[in-house]
Amino acid sequence: MRDLPTPDAPATDLRGIGDTSWQARAGCRGMDPGDADALFFPLPRDHEAIAEAKELCDPCPVRRECLNHALENGLREGTWGGLTEAERRPWHEGLSHRLDHSRVIAFFKGRDVHLSEAERRVVIDHAYVRGWRPERLALALRINPKHARDLLRQAADKVLDRDRNHGMPRAGSRGRKRSVPSTAEAPSTSAPTPRPVRRPSAQSPLGKAA
Ligand code: SF4
Repeated sequence: MRDLPTPDAPATDLRGIGDTSWQARAGCRGMDPGDADALFFPLPRDHEAIAEAKELCDPCPVRRECLNHALENGLREGTWGGLTEAERRPWHEGLSHRLDHSRVIAFFKGRDVHLSEAERRVVIDHAYVRGWRPERLALALRINPKHARDLLRQAADKVLDRDRNHGMPRAGSRGRKRSVPSTAEAPSTSAPTPRPVRRPSAQSPLGKAA
């Protein structure tokens, strides 16, 4: 965990939470909304519509972005990224366990990427190891400082336990736990850039006839 090369890692091309610019390159862009609904949200046994949608999605240059958009916004109905709702179900169910370090790196670079539960836990652990103050974590995760302080305390316990179990030396502390800075202390001078508030996604198929 401590070897994550966050400071010098190259910039990623991950899509930000509010970034819908990929829709301009969608293969289904410009479709009549009614036709798009019939094609991408067909009746369960309308195999003809499903096959036609897949044919359209197959060469689409933003297929991956489309799939991620559906996963990150919990859009379980319809065809997204060339996958039907049945085909996407395991992806939806496994999303909280996704651990993509490029997303964690992007987060520490100030990007507003979507984090899974597993990635969020790694972020909190790293924030603790880096000595982040609760205010800074609160700002970055858009949670209140008290919650951030609790999360940093939990990370402190976890890191200490792990170091004990693996016999890792802790420079200058010999097993002492690093204290979590008080929320009353002066805020960090290097607070991350505030990130835009995530907008709830509409059920309408963004990227489909957008
Ligand atoms: S539904 Fe998604 S993958 Fe299919 S054509 Fe539209 S944007 Fe591309």
